[in-house]
Amino acid sequence: MSACLLGQKVRYDGNDKYSRVIGEELTKYCQLLAVCPEVEIGLGVPREKIQLTQVGTTIRVLKEKEPKEDVSEALITFAKKFINQNSISGIVLQDKSPSCGVGNTKLFSEEGREIGVDSGLFAKTMMTRFPNIIVAQESQLQKKSDIISFVTRLN
Ligand code: SF4
Repeated sequence: MSACLLGQKVRYDGNDKYSRVIGEELTKYCQLLAVCPEVEIGLGVPREKIQLTQVGTTIRVLKEKEPKEDVSEALITFAKKFINQNSISGIVLQDKSPSCGVGNTKLFSEEGREIGVDSGLFAKTMMTRFPNIIVAQESQLQKKSDIISFVTRLN
């Protein structure tokens, strides 16, 4: 699961996105493996923001500022390695992140205009590799009953 949701201060601005219901309830039922793909590929904390960017017919993950370094391959390579090294029955991800978001991350043109939404590249790589994997975003796990529903789907 996204490490920031468990209180790890790994966001680009050095903060976390701690979720009490996830931290207190999900831990009762699951063995949680925290991961921050952006830290894992060496972007550091704090770090320059990255964003989903439409480049021709493909969506890339670029740093926000010029020269807009492309970190897509690093994220994809890490996601594949992470999948191969761990036994995973479900994933819990932070919304709207260019790495972890699922279908609600802002997509920009190369000129920096907002042109839609898509999934973060770490999330997308995992879901492509395991199309049937159980996925939940933080916004879907707001109450104890949401946690129970998610855990039930894992079994
Ligand atoms: Fe790291 Fe994902 Fe949290 Fe962003 S959303 S800080 S990439 S774990």
